[in-house]
Amino acid sequence: MDMKAVPVSMLDLGAQLAPLREELMASIRRVVESGRFIMGPEIDRLEKEMASRAAAAAAVAVSSGTDALLVSLMALDIGPGSEVITTPFTFFATAGTVWRSGAKPVFVDIEPDTFNIDASRIEAAVTPRTRAVMPVHLYGQCADMDAICALAKGKGLRVIEDSCQAVCTEYAPGRQAGTIGDLGCLSFYPTKNLPGIGDAGMVLVGRDSALADRVKRLRIHGGERRYFHREVGGNFRMDEMQAAALNVFLPRLEGWIKARRDNAERYRKLFVEAGLAREKGLVLPVERRPHTYHQFVIRVPRRDALKDFLESKGIQTDVYYPLPLHMQECFRGLGYREGDFPEAERAAREVLALPINPLLTPAQQEIVVGTIGEFYRTS
Ligand SMILES: *Cc1c(COP(=O)(O)O)cnc(C)c1O
Repeated sequence: MDMKAVPVSMLDLGAQLAPLREELMASIRRVVESGRFIMGPEIDRLEKEMASRAAAAAAVAVSSGTDALLVSLMALDIGPGSEVITTPFTFFATAGTVWRSGAKPVFVDIEPDTFNIDASRIEAAVTPRTRAVMPVHLYGQCADMDAICALAKGKGLRVIEDSCQAVCTEYAPGRQAGTIGDLGCLSFYPTKNLPGIGDAGMVLVGRDSALADRVKRLRIHGGERRYFHREVGGNFRMDEMQAAALNVFLPRLEGWIKARRDNAERYRKLFVEAGLAREKGLVLPVERRPHTYHQFVIRVPRRDALKDFLESKGIQTDVYYPLPLHMQECFRGLGYREGDFPEAERAAREVLALPINPLLTPAQQEIVVGTIGEFYRTS
């Protein structure tokens, strides 16, 4: 087989959305013709549908996953003088928004198998200034929310779930990611499991409808009614056009997630058949809870060399994330240094995300696994 002839990409959103193009264009046309571009019926429909799917008290459409995190911190009065405990192994926005709120991000190391925050290490990081815990459901698998929520309850802390990579992911039967803690933040950035056609996000409110009202107020500059401001919020609104697109895509999400799960299952089979699973020091994703495979991330020896080799054969992979947040230049003032979180640092050296998108074919997966085998046989 000529492996060069079949490039394997991480994602081909154009192709994934092609079957929906007519429907998408019609729905965008309706928005344009209606002249209602802000806070119209599409936002309403999306919020109702998402709240109902998640069995949440409310779903508040916002401008991005990042803004979902920021407005959540604001809604819980987290700011200067507060500390928020989170993971150093996540997308930058998790700690970036804590910093922007004026609070201090406090990092805790991760579990080596799920890459999520290690709940057993949180208690030791709690101080009198700790106000909240912000777990991240990395790659599409929930953190240990039972342990996190029990600890938070005991210490009087709030819980904000960064569910940006775990949209419509079950934590346990009937309980969805983003609804277990006080607030849950979703991202519809185009590469996420439910893609927008631009930036978009959402705040899920599990139980507290007064908190939902506050998030809604802060989304439009904190005003109770127009031009009368009880407090300072921001412009965190989602565009009507984004909501229209998301309303077209949402009914397909279940199928896309199923395709990702099927692909994950097939990878497992192929890696075992190829004798690559353990023998070569390669570690497959551990599934402790329902996983929606936003990413299929393996641990490998000589990660960078393997990545280059795959690239040379036309196979795209990616590294989420190459530098833990406690080692980022902008957070130098927090006083952390290399060696503080050995598991996060080891993960940053060893993780490799393989293509797992819904359009990936069994033949492409065979090429990916075959080429990884070739690398470890020949170099
Ligand atoms: C994508 C992502 C965000 C930010 O979402 P945007 O919509 O890009 O602002 C935050 N946290 C995590 C873990 C993410 O993956």
